[in-house]
Amino acid sequence: MDIVIAGGGPAALECAIAARKYDPEAKIAIYSGESLLPYRRPALSGLLAAGKTVEEKSFFIKTPEFLAAENIAFHPDSRAVAVNGKVLELASGQTIAFDRLIIACGSNAVMPPIPGNGNKNVFTLRSYSDMLKIREILDKGIKNAVVIGGGVLGLEIAESLLSRQIAVNVFEAAPRLFANTSLSDGDAGALLGRLNSIPLLKIICGKSVKAILPDSVESADGTVYPAEIVIFAAGSRPDLTLAQSAGVKCNRGIVVDEYMRSSREDILAAGDSAEFNGRCFNLYMDAVAGGKVAGTNAAGGNMLFTAKFSPVRFFGLGEKLVLD
Ligand SMILES: Cc1cc2nc3c(=O)[nH]c(=O)nc-3n(C[C@H](O)[C@H](O)[C@H](O)COP(=O)(O)OP(=O)(O)OC[C@H]3O[C@@H](n4cnc5c(N)ncnc54)[C@H](O)[C@@H]3O)c2cc1C
Repeated sequence: MDIVIAGGGPAALECAIAARKYDPEAKIAIYSGESLLPYRRPALSGLLAAGKTVEEKSFFIKTPEFLAAENIAFHPDSRAVAVNGKVLELASGQTIAFDRLIIACGSNAVMPPIPGNGNKNVFTLRSYSDMLKIREILDKGIKNAVVIGGGVLGLEIAESLLSRQIAVNVFEAAPRLFANTSLSDGDAGALLGRLNSIPLLKIICGKSVKAILPDSVESADGTVYPAEIVIFAAGSRPDLTLAQSAGVKCNRGIVVDEYMRSSREDILAAGDSAEFNGRCFNLYMDAVAGGKVAGTNAAGGNMLFTAKFSPVRFFGLGEKLVLD
C-alpha cells in the first residue's frame, strides 16, 4: 500500500504515525512545502519576543531519527500542485503514484484587500520563514506597530512586540473582543479595559483599517496611527487548489465524513484543510486528532472521528481564557 501525504504540519505527521501503527508494511511518504521537519506552529508568535530563540527539542514535533525508525519518508521543499488520477504532481515536475492520498496542507493566512497591503512593511505570520522575516524588521529596533485582528493570534503577536518595548495598536473590526465565543459582552468589555491598561498597548474594537501607508495606517474615520510594521492576524483559509484538481467536494475546506474521507474514496483530509460538520478546525489538537483518524483509515482502518472542536485558549497578557 502506497500512502502519500501532502502537507508538512502536525496533521500530516500524525497521519503518517497512525498509518504506520496500523500497517507496518505500508510505504508512507510525506511531501511538505516547507524546508523544516513538522514543528509546533503555535510557538511562532512567541518567537517574535525579545531574546527568544528556537529550542529544537520543544519546537520540532519529532526527530529525524524517529521518522527513520518508523520508516516514514519525509520530503522537504516538495510542494504538491495537482492530483491527476492516482498521481500527485509536485512543483518540481516529479510525479508520485499513490493508493491513498491524504491532503493535510493546512491553511494560508488571510490578507484582506486593503490598499497598501503589498507594502514591504506588511506581513502575515503562518510559517517559520514568515517569523524570520518579521523578526528581521523587529531587530532593527522599531518603535511602533499595528496588528490587524484582535483574536488569539493578534494578541499573542502584540504580547511579543510589547516585550521589545514596541507600542502596538491592535485593530479588531468586530465591536468587541472574542465576539464569536461564549464570552459575554460584559466580560469582553472588562477584558478590553484590563488589556488597554497595559503600557504601550491599545486595542481598538469596531474600527477597521482603510489604508496602509509606508510608515502608518489610516483607519476608516481618517485617524492615522504610526506603524513601521503592520502584521495581519485576520484568520486563515485552506488552500483548496490540490483538492479541487482531484475533483473532491470542497466548501470552505475539503469536506470530510466522520472517517476523514473526502468525496473520493482514495483521498482523505485532515487538519486545517478539512471541513467536518460544516466547520474547519484551525486548532492544533484537532489537527492531531483528525490526523490520527485519517492516517489509520488510509491504511485500511475504520476509525471514527469522535473528538469535539477544542475551545479557544488565550494564555497571555496576564489573562487565562478558555472559551467555547
Ligand atoms: C502563529 C500561529 C499561532 C497559533 N497558535 C495556536 C494555538 O495557540 N492553539 C491552537 O490550537 N492552534 C494554534 N494555531 C493553529 C495551529 O497551528 C494549526 O491549527 C495547526 O498547525 C494545523 O495543522 P495542519 O497540519 O493542518 O496545518 P499546518 O500546521 O498549517 O501545516 C500545513 C503544512 O502543509 C504545507 N503545505 C501547504 N500546501 C502544501 C502543498 N500544496 N504541498 C505540500 N505541502 C503543503 C505547509 O507548508 C505546512 O508545512 C496557530 C497558528 C499559527 C500560524
